[in-house]
Amino acid sequence: MLAGGGHAHLQLLADWIERGPPDVETVLISVRRTTLYSGMIPGWLAGAYRLEDATIDLAPLAERAGVRLVVDRLVGLSLARQEVELAEAPPLAFDWLSIATGGSAPAGLGDGADGAIAVPPIDRFADAWSQRQGRSPPRRVAVIGGGAAGVELAFALRAVFASAAIRLVAGRAGLLPAAGARARSRVAHALARRAIERVERDGHVAAGTVRLCDGTSFAADLVIVATGSGPPRWLGGAGLPLDDAGFVEVDAHHRVLGQHNLFAAGDAAQRVDRPVAHAGVHAVHAGPVVAANLRTLIGGGAGLDRYLPRKRTLYLLSTGDRRAILMWGGVALEGHWAWRLKDWIDRRWIAKFRRLSRRL
Ligand SMILES: Cc1cc2nc3c(=O)[nH]c(=O)nc-3n(C[C@H](O)[C@H](O)[C@H](O)COP(=O)(O)OP(=O)(O)OC[C@H]3O[C@@H](n4cnc5c(N)ncnc54)[C@H](O)[C@@H]3O)c2cc1C
Repeated sequence: MLAGGGHAHLQLLADWIERGPPDVETVLISVRRTTLYSGMIPGWLAGAYRLEDATIDLAPLAERAGVRLVVDRLVGLSLARQEVELAEAPPLAFDWLSIATGGSAPAGLGDGADGAIAVPPIDRFADAWSQRQGRSPPRRVAVIGGGAAGVELAFALRAVFASAAIRLVAGRAGLLPAAGARARSRVAHALARRAIERVERDGHVAAGTVRLCDGTSFAADLVIVATGSGPPRWLGGAGLPLDDAGFVEVDAHHRVLGQHNLFAAGDAAQRVDRPVAHAGVHAVHAGPVVAANLRTLIGGGAGLDRYLPRKRTLYLLSTGDRRAILMWGGVALEGHWAWRLKDWIDRRWIAKFRRLSRRL
C-alpha cells in the first residue's frame, strides 16, 4: 500500500513502470487524482506556467505501474490491525506500507484562517490562490518563512503585484539558514533590488496582522505562510516512532524504525542516521530506494538499498522575472541562463511522467 501520491511516490511509480512492480496487489491512496510539481508553483504564480504545466495525472501512471488508485483521504493507521482508515470508505488492510503523504500546514493555518494561505499542502495552496484570482490586488503583502519556498514565493508575488509593499518575514535565523554566506548574501541583494523588505524576526499571523517576536506588528491584506512542513497529522496516535516534531523516524533504507514492513519517505519522514532536509530533491531520490526495497523484500530477497544524499545539492531559486539564482556549495550566481536551466530541468521532469503515462 502506497500512502500519498506526491514527489516520492511519483518516483516510486516511475521505478516500477521501468523495472517492474512487486508481484502483489498494490494500492495507491491519494487525496486527489492529480498531483502538483512544487518546483513550478512559484513560476505558475509569476505567470511563467499554467497550472496544467505543473500537474501530473496519477491514474495512467498507477495503471502502467500495475497499481490500483484509490482517491480518498487517509485519516488513521492501526498497527495492531495492519490497516489504514479512510475518510470515505472502509479501512484497507496491508502487508507492506510506504508512507509519503508530505508535510502538513503549520497548525491553525491550513484553511485560510486569519486570511492567511499556508503552503504546504501545495494542492490546497493552489486552490486558495486560484480562488483569489479576479480580486483587487493587495497593497500590503507578507510572506512568513525565509526558506527556499518563502523566498521564491516572495519573488513571484513581486512579479504579480508590482506596486504592493512586500515583506519577507524570514525569522530570527535569517534567510536560507542552511545555505552558505555567499548564497544568503546573493539572495538578500536580489530581494532588495526588487524592493522586498526582509524582516529577520520570528512572526506569526493573527486576524490580518503579522505579529513579530519583538512585540511590533504590521497589517497585511495577503499573508502567505511558508514556514516549512508540519508533521503528517493523520499518523498521530498510530504508535509509530516519531521525532520530537512528529515526523516518522526512518533509517538509511527508509524503513520505519522497528517496523519490518513499513517505509516512509519525503517530507513525512525524518532520517535518524544523518540530517536530511525536507526538500523535494530528497523525496524524489528516496522514492526509488523505497521502490527497490519493497520489490526486494516482497520477492523474498535480502540486501536493501540505502539513500545516500550527495554532499552538495544544486538549488535553483526563481526570482519571478525569468531569472534565477543558482546555488551549488559555496557558489551563488544569478541570471537569465539560470532560469533557462531551471525551466529545462523542471519541464524535463514533468515530461518524464507524461511519457511514462503513455501506453507503449
Ligand atoms: C512553493 C514550494 C516550492 C518548492 N520548491 C522546491 C524545489 O524547487 N526544490 C525542492 O527540492 N523542494 C521544493 N519544495 C519542497 C517540496 O515540495 C517537498 O519537499 C516535496 O513536495 C515533498 O515530497 P513528498 O512526496 O514528501 O510529499 P508531496 O509531494 O507533498 O506529496 C504528498 C501527497 O500526499 C497526498 N496526501 C497528503 N495527505 C494525505 C492524506 N491524508 N490522504 C491521502 N493523500 C494525502 C497529497 O495530496 C500529495 O499528493 C518546494 C515546496 C514549496 C511549498
